[in-house]
Amino acid sequence: MLQSKIFTKTLRDSPKDETSKNAQYLIRGGFVDKLMAGVYSYLPLGLRVLKRIENIIREEINAAGGQEIFMPAIHPIENYTTTGREAIDVLFHTETQTGHRIVLGQSHEEVIVPLVKKFIESYRDLPLAVYQIQTKFRNELRPKSGIFRGREFLMKDLYSFHADEDDFDRYYKTIQQVYKKIFDRAGIGSATVRTFASGGTFSKYSLEFQTITDAGEDTIFLCERCSVAVNDEVKDDCKNTCPECKKPLSHEPKKSIEVGNIFPLKTRFSDAFNLSYKDPDGKQKPVIMGCYGIGVTRLMGAIAEVHSDEHGIIWPESVAPFLVHILPLSKAAIPEAKRVELSLAEKSIPVLLDDREDKSAGEKFSDADLIGIPWRVVISDNTIKKEGIEVKKRSEREAKIMSVEEFLDQFL
Ligand code: ATP
Ligand code: MG
Repeated sequence: MLQSKIFTKTLRDSPKDETSKNAQYLIRGGFVDKLMAGVYSYLPLGLRVLKRIENIIREEINAAGGQEIFMPAIHPIENYTTTGREAIDVLFHTETQTGHRIVLGQSHEEVIVPLVKKFIESYRDLPLAVYQIQTKFRNELRPKSGIFRGREFLMKDLYSFHADEDDFDRYYKTIQQVYKKIFDRAGIGSATVRTFASGGTFSKYSLEFQTITDAGEDTIFLCERCSVAVNDEVKDDCKNTCPECKKPLSHEPKKSIEVGNIFPLKTRFSDAFNLSYKDPDGKQKPVIMGCYGIGVTRLMGAIAEVHSDEHGIIWPESVAPFLVHILPLSKAAIPEAKRVELSLAEKSIPVLLDDREDKSAGEKFSDADLIGIPWRVVISDNTIKKEGIEVKKRSEREAKIMSVEEFLDQFL
């Protein structure tokens, strides 16, 4: 893609109302635009990243047997009266022209349970795992830290349905592995820890996946032995010891952001909607449920936060908007740049080519650092003379002159 054709432009100054690094870089780099507090547009570069993150999630959940659907964003209030959640504070309320009260979806238990109830009859219909990647609406009191906490944000929400607790427990463990794979592939695996937290209405704890970053809102304490952590909110509850190995937790608090969580729901929602199945003996039994969320847009912010330096973002290759950023530094370098782009295109390597004629070399370099594409290729009169290209990884300092063939070999 030609950089001159992207309708957004990089911004020199940081937005004054954003304090987190991820928000500043994402806005300055032209990934997102803020419409109002907690409400963002995803621009060409940002949408490419978001779609790649979505696909990692989709591939891993599909591999674990999840079936993807897409549910409505507006819900009838009656479903929330049924579950007793009509008064929760984050619900946005509105109504139809004829006065039927509706709410905007902040989560989808109130939709998925009546939906699957139409199809689950006997034990043969279980287990079942259904998910979607969809916009959620929450009237958050304090949207902050850019796309970390939005009033409108993208979530992957998965719901599982089981005949008994044992089957649920198996799936609950499977999903922990699936989440690990997702966060590994998204490049934040080593910064993300499984964390015991409150909110387990039925079991003692719920499990959160917390990414360690100073920009986070949560505080956690690590158990260095088990690579798990405990959220500050339940630290006293577990007497400062690790719930898994019972050894003392680290004294050093870490700031973190919750990128995902998993919840045993038991029969909380099955009871409300009377979701049951016939067991092999013909007895009616309630369906056991679990729900599993990942904040997709928050995850994008967390990746940008973890993978950045004082100049901008350093996208992991797995989610980068493009793999290679080609910077021709003179008019004469443009045809050579286009030739290199073509060779990369033959290998299906996505390239952003900075063909902007009104930008100095310095401006192109600082924009490249800000946008954070993993590989930078500079083509100048000097590299043409040397019959090579100058290659630098965004994550490294040193640049190397090499032939186009040598560079292509990196992507075998
Ligand atoms: P939090 O404690 O951060 O408010 P939550 O417990 O309300 O999160 P869930 O309702 O379980 O979270 O949502 C699933 C996931 O969606 C969370 O783990 C988080 O990554 C993300 N998420 C929750 N609220 C927001 C928000 N306002 N903006 C962006 N992402 C969010
Ligand atoms: Mg919340």
